[in-house]
Parts: sequence; structure tokens; C-alpha cells
Amino acid sequence: MRWEEWRYCPRCGVSLEGVGREESASRSRLLCSHCHGVYYRNPTVGVAVILLDGKRILLVKRYGSFAGSWCIPCGHVEWGEEVREAAKREFFEETGVEVEVGGVFDVHSNFHDPSHLTVGVWFWGIRRGGSPKAGSDAQAVGFFDLDDLPEPMAFPTDRLVCAKLRRLVLSREEGNRS
Ligand SMILES: [Zn+2]
Repeated sequence: MRWEEWRYCPRCGVSLEGVGREESASRSRLLCSHCHGVYYRNPTVGVAVILLDGKRILLVKRYGSFAGSWCIPCGHVEWGEEVREAAKREFFEETGVEVEVGGVFDVHSNFHDPSHLTVGVWFWGIRRGGSPKAGSDAQAVGFFDLDDLPEPMAFPTDRLVCAKLRRLVLSREEGNRS
């Protein structure tokens, strides 16, 4: 598969059409023939926070990209921002709920948008205040049963995370019964 690539050198501005590639052991990288820059294009970091209420998870209906689809509240880590601060900020902006950001539940590479590749980190959230209310980046917010997620869900990796959460919740319930 070929991902969307830069068309101009980010350093000297010449067109990268037809320029060379540096072939390394496993990856091929753009090479500017004018300034000799080699470009390691990296994914950005996405952060999401999981807030559970029993077997229900807090989801938001999106504005902007994937508008109208549902996702686990998430956003991007900005330049100079600490990763957990970013997770907490994005969660509050979208849901109005203040959380303490706990441990990492899951990590995935996101390939659903070829022009914006990201590495997503899903943290546990511990509720500290506020009540769910759609913020600036969300059309709606609500708790949904892990067995009855709303459609459409925006991201395939959110589905993986919800399936893993469901297994965890079910195994806890089993544990409680035995
Ligand atoms: Zn260049």
C-alpha cells in the first residue's frame, strides 16, 4: 500500500516529484536531490481516554473529520504538550468531564486515514468532576453499553479497544460469580 506523501521538500521547497529514494533495510524514504535531506515521515500521537460506568463507556459523536460518527473521546498531542495532559485536555474539551488520566489500556497504529497516520494511546480515565455535556468538538455525548455500541463508529481501532474492554468486563463478572 502506498500512503500519501509530501510533494515538496519541507526544508528547501523544491518539488519532490521524481526525486530519489533512500532504500534502507526495510523501508524506503524520500530523498531530496537538491538539499540532500532524507525524510523520515512519522505518525503523530493520538490520545483517547476510557471512562467506564459499569459496562458502559462514554462516547462522543464527532464534528469535523468523520462528522456524525462515534468515537472514544480523543485528540492529538500538541507540540510541547505532555501526553497525559493532552489526554485530559481533549477529554474535558469534548465531554465536560474532568478526569485523572490513569494507566495505558491499549496502543494501536491507526491507518484508517492515509493522510493522517497516527499512533493511538488509550488511557484509563478516573472521573474527578463535571457531568457529560457535548463540548466544542462533539455533537453529542453519552454512555453506551459495550454490547450495544452506536453506529457508525468512526475508527476500527476503537472497535478493537471496545471489544477488549468487553472481554475484560465479562471476565471480571465471571470472577465475581465464582
Ligand atoms: Zn530539499
